Amino acid sequence: MEQALEMMLQEKFHKGIKEASKEEIYTALLCVTKDKMKGMKANTGDRKLYYISAEFLIGKLLSNNLINLGLFEETREVLKKYGHDITEIEEMEPEPSLGNGGLGRLAACFLDSIATLGLAGDGVGLNYHEGLFLQKFADHKQWEDKNPWITENSWLTKTDRHFQVPFKDFTLTSTMYDIDVPGYESGCNKLHLFDLDTVDEGLIHDGIQFDKTDIRKNLTLFLYPDDSDEAGHLLRIYQQYFMVSNAAQLIIREAEERGVNLYHLHEHVCIQINDTHPTMVIPELIRILTSEKGFNMDTAVDVVRKTCAYTNHTILAEALEKWPVAYLEQVVPQLMPIIRDLDARVRRDFHDERVYIIDEQNRVHMAHIDIHYGYAVNGVAALHTEILKESELKPFYDIYPEKFNNKTNGITFRRWLLHCNHRLADYLKELIGEGFVKDASQLEKLLEYQNDEKVLAQLKEIKKEAKIELKNYLKMTQGIEIDENSVFDIQIKRLHEYKRQQMNALYAIYKYKEIKKGNLPKRPVTMIFGAKAAPAYTIAKDIIHLILCLQELIEKDPEVRKYLRIVMVENYNVTKAEKLIPACDISEQISLASKEASGTGNMKFMLNGAVTLGTEDGANVEIHELVGDDNIYIFGEKSEKVIDLYANASYCSKDIYENDPMVEELVDFIISKDLIRIGDPVNLGRLYKEIVGKDWFMTLLDVKDYIRTKEQMLEDYEDEKSWAKKMLVNIAKAGFFSSDRTIAEYDRDIWHLS
Ligand SMILES: *Cc1c(COP(=O)(O)O)cnc(C)c1O
Repeated sequence: MEQALEMMLQEKFHKGIKEASKEEIYTALLCVTKDKMKGMKANTGDRKLYYISAEFLIGKLLSNNLINLGLFEETREVLKKYGHDITEIEEMEPEPSLGNGGLGRLAACFLDSIATLGLAGDGVGLNYHEGLFLQKFADHKQWEDKNPWITENSWLTKTDRHFQVPFKDFTLTSTMYDIDVPGYESGCNKLHLFDLDTVDEGLIHDGIQFDKTDIRKNLTLFLYPDDSDEAGHLLRIYQQYFMVSNAAQLIIREAEERGVNLYHLHEHVCIQINDTHPTMVIPELIRILTSEKGFNMDTAVDVVRKTCAYTNHTILAEALEKWPVAYLEQVVPQLMPIIRDLDARVRRDFHDERVYIIDEQNRVHMAHIDIHYGYAVNGVAALHTEILKESELKPFYDIYPEKFNNKTNGITFRRWLLHCNHRLADYLKELIGEGFVKDASQLEKLLEYQNDEKVLAQLKEIKKEAKIELKNYLKMTQGIEIDENSVFDIQIKRLHEYKRQQMNALYAIYKYKEIKKGNLPKRPVTMIFGAKAAPAYTIAKDIIHLILCLQELIEKDPEVRKYLRIVMVENYNVTKAEKLIPACDISEQISLASKEASGTGNMKFMLNGAVTLGTEDGANVEIHELVGDDNIYIFGEKSEKVIDLYANASYCSKDIYENDPMVEELVDFIISKDLIRIGDPVNLGRLYKEIVGKDWFMTLLDVKDYIRTKEQMLEDYEDEKSWAKKMLVNIAKAGFFSSDRTIAEYDRDIWHLS
């Protein structure tokens, strides 16, 4: 590595390692790593997987690639020899924000595991120039800015693959870029990101505004452009079709290059449709096979049905895409005859309008296409899959019980342990050997040490060091100084009412008032939040406003500040997650039961020795089963009850508010003089009204149980030994949540690659 780095620096900058700047060292390391990956053997096989996803939240790649190539330690030592700290070099890398949250991060973890297991499988997506927006705080509010990440030297490699993508009024020529995905001690796969050469960042003005109608110039500017108007909806359809038309053409081209007879495509190719965004790949493949490859409709439908599988990620109604026929006619009229034909086949076979593809309001239900015309449908955690089968998708389950299966999500331990928590990873290797790196179930060997005081003390020490590192990071990045001896209580995830950051904020109000009354906590608490709100999601932004106002209120109150702090981390992303998670004591997983399909943040925290405070929702249920009652804090109503409340429309937040003085006091504080003085009465008033008058995600249903449980947790934290034992059990039981396990299951039950 030393020699390669030296040569690269000479070639690029005419400098040696000694004289080079951090930025130059980063660039040279990137180039050396790219060269090494070029030399790797590709994972191959008779069957190949294409994982199509609108999001790949890959995070920074330098350290992870070095880890997977087995070069990390050596590189760290070389840099050290010349007085450089590798974490400072990492800071030079821009983070591509090609994803929004869990779904995109899952896709990235899956690529790592697919490559590591030696499976032939590539990702296919779009090369967004600005990704999701960059979040900034000012006036206690979120502001959005663009987030460029493509620099002259990046992980992208421009290929000479181009396809013609036909839209109604024009045809665009795509360019394919590749990012190498090296497996851990294994072969290499690719992430293919499609783009247009004509895209123009100059179109963007005033933050993230741009002309939504200029498709040639805007197509791949942003992930999830604002779709609160018609032009925004159309742009999303343009993006989706561009993604899947390229994917379909690539898949057919590569199959032909491999000599595959397209009538046997399903024997050599499988396509995983990650949520509904890539659904149009189904009619697009049928279109290409029938119009260009001589297939008749029945055969094309049959082959495509045996090739495609669909993952459902949510039961939130607003997230299940339904495109008006009129919009599809405007953008991709060539698909409409096929979609109509697919709908007619459904109507011929089933007399149940709930499973039709086109509804009576002339909207195309994308998920229905996936379920009828794919061979597998999976949910992402046990509870989620049960809810799909028993309620959300019941009419489909009744027709196709054999298609439904569960694949509980996972995370790659290379990033979420080896990379983000070197101290813990090294200590685990020392205790139980290195086997867990490739076989995560071996983490259970740690259980032997659950009563070993030395081991428990060391786990606490490692946590303390991570807390100090986070403290230094927050000082450097946000100028905020926190106390490493306080309890770190962390909620980091997209901002959404179902995730209930507002309930956590009500806890902060509760604690603030207690401290004001003189009920002082034994140990200070540091509440940390990180969350982006979708730019058009008003209430989510109001919740951010509330948290930032509370942060300010407490900062300015010397009496309370000694015992309670709130820190909202700006621009929460993968890099920030990597710094926050190792330092966490209490992992907040407090979604309304039945609403969080799986969650993966919960898994990252557990693996790093945090204890979960959560509802019986998503993968929390499985964490609970694995660690047992003593090692998790569960509160709140169960999913059956919540589903009933929705079915009977019998939840009324106002009743709770009016009949419970404690709840009333907490909610009223949102519009108190103390907060209005700091914040904006419009935002705070709107949020107050929303919680009292609607509260669609039932904050007030669970808030008291939540407060009670968190107080219990803080008390239990004081018993150092028993807390450390909880940490240990959580780490030991996290092996199940390795994405290597998840991918092995996808392969065994759906893909059949190996
Ligand atoms: C893991 C992760 C998520 C998903 O978190 P949840 O708590 O499961 O919603 C979102 N964003 C980033 C940056 C992540 O790393």
